[in-house]
Amino acid sequence: MLQIRSLRKSFDGFLAVKEANLSVNPGEVVAVIGPNGAGKTTLFNLVSGQIRPDAGSIRFKGEDICGLRPHQLCRKGMSRSFQIVKIFSRMSVFENVQTAVISRMKKTSNLFIPAHNIAVKETEAILEAMGLIDKRDSICGLLSHGDQKVLEMAISLGSDPQLLILDEPTAGMSGEETARAIDLMKHLSRQRGLTILFCEHDVELVFSFADRIMVMQQGSTITQGTPDQVRNDPQVKKAYLGSHD
Ligand code: ADP
Ligand code: MG
Repeated sequence: MLQIRSLRKSFDGFLAVKEANLSVNPGEVVAVIGPNGAGKTTLFNLVSGQIRPDAGSIRFKGEDICGLRPHQLCRKGMSRSFQIVKIFSRMSVFENVQTAVISRMKKTSNLFIPAHNIAVKETEAILEAMGLIDKRDSICGLLSHGDQKVLEMAISLGSDPQLLILDEPTAGMSGEETARAIDLMKHLSRQRGLTILFCEHDVELVFSFADRIMVMQQGSTITQGTPDQVRNDPQVKKAYLGSHD
């Protein structure tokens, strides 16, 4: 699904991503972990076309995607959410997701169908799956932080992606909200066969449910493997997990 080799990106001479390597197989849940400033968000920005790499390669479903813009990647089946919530806060929950569904269907140009009647079933199905159906008419800006983050995931699903990229999907959530978000991610991966790439601060949480984990430090990949392989990797113990002992 995704193959990243020797990816590099600097900002004014500062190497935010120095040597990132990552592979994601279809249907997998893969986590990227690493301390603040390790380069996780920059890596995701590179993968999803927000910024261009200085060197290295990114292949998505076998195709070189370096230089493609986010909307082009979205059409190819990649969707991402952001560390900081990005929603239309004065629109309803329904309208936020519907907008994403409509933009995939490219139905905006049909003047004879009122906008509110388009893609209703599909939008409702997503809200149902994400546990947001009871809040369909709520104004988004008034939702709890946890609901807003889940809504972001729902918006990402509007483009019917094969690969979902989530940047700290549980950031700022309470314990209860986190458990709910993780359940939803598990559900999306198991029931819909969605491939999920996410990064996360909470290491325990990652070890409990990711299929494989990539560990990043100071812009470089230290290792990638199953939770057990990563837990027992001497370099990881020393460089990253060791700091928590
Ligand atoms: P993480 O998501 O792992 O916390 P980031 O990718 O956000 O890490 O940041 C990695 C490093 O790159 C940090 O030191 C950050 O300050 C720097 N950085 C990120 N984006 C920019 C930018 N647009 N300009 C300059 N420095 C940046
Ligand atoms: Mg980040």
